[in-house]
Amino acid sequence: MQAPDHIQPPQDTVPQSLHRLGELARNLWWSWNQPARQLFESIDPTLWFLTHHNPVQLLSGVKPERFATLAGDPNFARQYSAVLRAFDEYLSSKNTWAATEFPALQNSPIAYFSAEFGLHISIPIYSGGLGILAGDHCKEASDLGIPLVGIGFMYPQGYFKQRINPEGWQEATYVPFNRYDSPIHQAMTSTGIPCSIKVEIGHRQVTVLVWQVRAGRMSLYLIDTDVPENTPEDRALSARLYGGDQEIRLCQEFLLGIGGVRILRALGIDPAVWHCNEGHSAFLTLERIREFVTTGHSHAEASDLVRQSTVFTTHTPVPAGHDIFPFHLMDRYFSNYWGQLGLSREEFLRLGETPESAGHGFNMTALAMRLSAHVNGVSREHGRVSRQMWQHLWPGLAQDLVPIRSLTNGIHAPTWISPEANSLYAKYLSPDWAERVDDPIIWQRVTDLPDDALWAVRQTTRRKLMRFIRERARDGWIRGHLQPMQAIARGTLLDPEALTIGFARRFATYKRATLLFRDLDRLKQLLHNRWRPVQIVFAGKAHPADEPGRYFIHEVLSFCNDHKLGGHVAFLEDYDMHMAKYLVQGVDIWLNTPRAPLEASGTSGQKAALNGVINLSVLDGWWHEGYNGANGWGIQPLPEGTDTQAQDAHDAEQLFRLLEQEVVPLFYQRDLDGIPRGWLQIVKESIKTVAPRFCTKRMVKEYMRQLYAPATARTPNKW
Ligand SMILES: *Cc1c(COP(=O)(O)O)cnc(C)c1O
Repeated sequence: MQAPDHIQPPQDTVPQSLHRLGELARNLWWSWNQPARQLFESIDPTLWFLTHHNPVQLLSGVKPERFATLAGDPNFARQYSAVLRAFDEYLSSKNTWAATEFPALQNSPIAYFSAEFGLHISIPIYSGGLGILAGDHCKEASDLGIPLVGIGFMYPQGYFKQRINPEGWQEATYVPFNRYDSPIHQAMTSTGIPCSIKVEIGHRQVTVLVWQVRAGRMSLYLIDTDVPENTPEDRALSARLYGGDQEIRLCQEFLLGIGGVRILRALGIDPAVWHCNEGHSAFLTLERIREFVTTGHSHAEASDLVRQSTVFTTHTPVPAGHDIFPFHLMDRYFSNYWGQLGLSREEFLRLGETPESAGHGFNMTALAMRLSAHVNGVSREHGRVSRQMWQHLWPGLAQDLVPIRSLTNGIHAPTWISPEANSLYAKYLSPDWAERVDDPIIWQRVTDLPDDALWAVRQTTRRKLMRFIRERARDGWIRGHLQPMQAIARGTLLDPEALTIGFARRFATYKRATLLFRDLDRLKQLLHNRWRPVQIVFAGKAHPADEPGRYFIHEVLSFCNDHKLGGHVAFLEDYDMHMAKYLVQGVDIWLNTPRAPLEASGTSGQKAALNGVINLSVLDGWWHEGYNGANGWGIQPLPEGTDTQAQDAHDAEQLFRLLEQEVVPLFYQRDLDGIPRGWLQIVKESIKTVAPRFCTKRMVKEYMRQLYAPATARTPNKW
């Protein structure tokens, strides 16, 4: 089948002696390998900057003269060979962690289904934490040698881009992106033809084209319905992430779960384990039951087989985070389907029943819980809350016996580490610290990091963040979409030497971005102190349909524009992975103020800690178990059930007290060399305790041991 008509592959201009650059660019391995990134950057630093570090676009934009120069440059040739050698070694290595620990499972693929994947900004198919976690999980599976394949969507318009209009309101725009300018390519079947399948959704035949992303040793397959064979409505089905109404959402989840299984079949991949990352993909359990029923199993047998081999991760206790589809939509799309499962309509609808939805709604989380034997929440606290929330599915079972484990999220260290901290750790901890990141022993050496070297990294990364912020504002002004006044709200008056607090995350109201604005006089005093200035950088998107969230952004912007706050508060437009890197590497304090216990885990604070940034957070999510009294600051929430006004007042008071009495004095307490020794003490304690525990190396190993390996064990044959 032909690729969509409006996009064409670029001409290949790379000279013969450097011909493997294209291959390197199309495997995201470079995105977590510093020498590979440096190689691309050195080809054309300006273009590297302008393409937001997208080597595919870079290579198609480099002038032939530049390539000719590079082809004759011995330094570049040396760098090129070294990177390719490392790349080949990585891909062909036989003694990976998984090969050593689980040799019997090397030919048992794990299919990982997710509505979003945050691998790199050049593939904009993620919105936030869920996607970033999926991306980090995939990279780590590759590093550990776990045979994992991903299934997701090629959203040609991605997630929305955020613009702030002159009145301070968020506007959503969608930018179509060129598939050929991105590190993806069409997936091929084993017989060498482009992979495409047809899926019957309700009474429509929808054609799906499949794209492939390579990330190290693993592959991710992406569903694309934007092909000429489809009606305009069906072409638009996969256009946007979380962009449509409930019916489009249902069709997307039909495609992901049911289409996803068929794509794996078409590719000749036979997974031993099926992992639903959040409930969006839970229909995959139905399609697998259908397959077993078609080959002669009873519905009960089929369900048992599916349950035993399915892993389900739930990600939020917030009700809006769980899809519930009304029965009339389920009827429209499943009336010719439930019979194939050996079920009546009533039996089918009961699979998605909860006490709240009984009789009218089909809950995707309930479906996933019922058909997965291996379920987990994403932090200790979230495990507890999930057992409480879903206890009704196991009537008669005590809450702490409900079979939902907790497995705390982590981050992929090589993706999130700053180049400066990376060099520091390589020098003082171990050259291969990133491969051993989950080993607490190497982190003991953090105690001996020279203070001046560590402080130099902190200073450099903060200055880099400030430059990033300034250049964004300058660019906006040059392009005419920022007025000079607005440039101040974008951070042009920020001070590269001042204590900088970062708050960047989705603007959901429970995250309480505006907590500090409850007491403006106190805030002003804090920010304005001439000798000990404090500044705050905000970033984040609100879902376009989330009115209260959009209102919060507007409120933050009005404070950024308030001359009385003196330009010490800034809001950065269009938070994404690229900006996140500058923020988690460059600020001094990472602030998080969720209304407990609603933050399932959070991961951005883990990225910050890895880079020597100190967390100041409500004790919820991962920080509830990460905080030890000496590695940052924690706000103990009032008991659950306290009314929200009282909770907000209490948490704001704690927050101000900590900032005024502990954080600010410690940051500005310098010795004769200008080094804040007490501050660095906490930085070190934070790196030492957070890095080995809250990394995907620890996390994905646990998934393997506690969920994937048990899911490959077949239940005793009962028939
Ligand atoms: C890490 C990350 C997140 C998730 O972080 P939280 O702590 O859950 O807010 C969201 N968005 C981006 C761009 C990230 O890099």
